[in-house]
Amino acid sequence: MKVLVINAGSSSLKYQLIDMDTKAVMAKGLCERIGIDGKLTHQGNKTEEKYKADIAMPTHSDAIKAVIDILLDKEWGVISDMSEIDAVGHRVVHGGEYFADSVIITDKVIKAIEACIPLAPLHNPPNLTGINACREVMGDVPMVAVFDTAFHQSMPQKSYMYAVPYEYYQKYKIRRYGFHGTSHKYVSQQAAEMLGRPIESLKLITCHLGNGSSIAAIDGGRSVDTSMGFTPIDGLPMGTRSGNIDPSIIEFLAEHENMSAAEVINILNKKSGMLGISGVSSDFRDLDVAINEGNNRAALAKDMFNTSVKKIIGSYIAEMGGVDAIIFTAGVGENDRSVRWDVCEHMEYLGIKIDPEKNKYRGRQMDISIDYARVRVLVIPTNEELVIAQDTERLVKEAQAK
Ligand code: AMP
Repeated sequence: MKVLVINAGSSSLKYQLIDMDTKAVMAKGLCERIGIDGKLTHQGNKTEEKYKADIAMPTHSDAIKAVIDILLDKEWGVISDMSEIDAVGHRVVHGGEYFADSVIITDKVIKAIEACIPLAPLHNPPNLTGINACREVMGDVPMVAVFDTAFHQSMPQKSYMYAVPYEYYQKYKIRRYGFHGTSHKYVSQQAAEMLGRPIESLKLITCHLGNGSSIAAIDGGRSVDTSMGFTPIDGLPMGTRSGNIDPSIIEFLAEHENMSAAEVINILNKKSGMLGISGVSSDFRDLDVAINEGNNRAALAKDMFNTSVKKIIGSYIAEMGGVDAIIFTAGVGENDRSVRWDVCEHMEYLGIKIDPEKNKYRGRQMDISIDYARVRVLVIPTNEELVIAQDTERLVKEAQAK
């Protein structure tokens, strides 16, 4: 089965065509500046070379058409007929309390995704636009929605409730949802495979550390807690997001800086975190350059990040009553050895100890703990597209078998 994976943003659309028999990525690419002018970058599996072109993309439907055209192209394409695409898997950010798993897209499902727009006003509308564009261009090819929030729907109520009046949960569904679910699910399953143990027997802490970062406590294969909350601003300080702060700061800043609450939240989303503290950049590589040049604020930003990761790991060990493995993934988790080292330092008393030699490697799947450590520390590159394609294949095959 060949599955087209689509991740649609407001003016961009990422795609991958995956052959599920071999798990190979046949082609991948990106449409940018949709609704402005339109740029396509595409890479097939015949050459390392990338195809780049300016193609008018007034709408997402035009972007999908451009993707189909290049997939069928004689020189750059990888299929000879659109019917070779057996199914489409769409990343959707918010499934609210409606979806605890991926789902075949129907009109009813689209209504439920629309109902979640107030919870993710920036993300769900472009995700829906991508779905509708595919339906328009590709007709009745089966489509599946895979939600960032679904994996965390297994959290117990004591973990997902905020201690605000209960009526706000009832009225508005104000609660912790969590995000990066596909990534946490993928690396936890990979970890079980690496450890050669059934996931049902494992207590895992998965650290998805990238530009956006979240940590999940996964007990027996089920997410029981996670650091992102009602929105992705909660939890750790990130590239440009503050992470959790005392909510009184919002009112204080609104009053003293003469801003609305929405303007303060915008600052907490876009100008805070590593960027806000360092004044240099949201990018961890830039922070490292600045730290080497003696920039104390860049060092402070990274120290704050590492300490926050450590604190959450500690709290999840306490919550689950132990841990078998800690997993690092995403841009920072896979690549930044100083983050991994600082986070795991001084945790020998918990059975956690990294081997500095093994920790030198980056971007590859490996166990970086010292041989005799009780808790394994693993680096596992994430692959959200593969999870989307796998869920799509599973659900489409199940539906066909009915
Ligand atoms: P992501 O959101 O998963 O794409 O991760 C982006 C973050 O990963 C950025 O802050 C990058 O600086 C960071 N990153 C990527 N490669 C490296 C690297 N080699 N060393 C340190 N950080 C890296």
